[in-house]
Amino acid sequence: MKKIFAANWKLNKTPDQATAFAQDFLAKTSGNFFENKEAFIFPQNFSLDAVSRGFKSSKVQFGPQQIHTETKGAFTGENSLDLAKSLGSQICLIGHSERRQFFAEANPLINKKVLLCQSTDVLPVLCIGESLEQRQKNETLKVCFEQLETALAGVDTAKRIVVAYEPVWAIGTGQVATLDQVKEVHAELYKKMTSLNFKNFQLLYGGSVKADNAKDLISIAHVDGFLIGGASLEVASFLDICNCL
Ligand code: PEP
Repeated sequence: MKKIFAANWKLNKTPDQATAFAQDFLAKTSGNFFENKEAFIFPQNFSLDAVSRGFKSSKVQFGPQQIHTETKGAFTGENSLDLAKSLGSQICLIGHSERRQFFAEANPLINKKVLLCQSTDVLPVLCIGESLEQRQKNETLKVCFEQLETALAGVDTAKRIVVAYEPVWAIGTGQVATLDQVKEVHAELYKKMTSLNFKNFQLLYGGSVKADNAKDLISIAHVDGFLIGGASLEVASFLDICNCL
């Protein structure tokens, strides 16, 4: 199975910068690159069009970092999955911890977004993960399982889904989870997804992934790729991670 390298640009990159990234990325990758990898880009919405044009006819997939549960109507300021699709989006990030933390997104709302993506054949990339406090209280698996069960209620288990395990305390902190921590959680998440009857899923790790830790992390069982924030902003550092394979 191909490994997934997903870039979360967060609130960064103008359309011009996104265009330059696409040009540089495509110039530095060949068809071989995609033989064992998939590349996902989640730009800020104002740069989605630039990403769409920049990666046109390439194998790079892209989509929004968050969407509203309704696709149109009186929802001033919101993002529409239909509009994102009209720009060629094939994927959508859902439930990132920054959405949960700063925008009060909770699991039932996240569940609606996963269902919406599935109903329109957009691949959902669902983020889950525990806070530092929850880990210190030994609640990591309980929290992750609760997030999974609620966010995936009613979801079609035959359709493809990607789950990104991102310990909140490792995101943007430079403090990567240890190999044993990642190994334990991914093994349990794999069992959980299987017990929930999911047949086509991949599990990503996210949280301060860099070129120097990528090789060890990618060799852990059930780590099917990475969700990468800071290190995905530069083509060189993103490719250094992708080239861990
Ligand atoms: C993220 O934004 O999902 C993330 C993992 O960020 P970083 O790689 O910067 O920790």
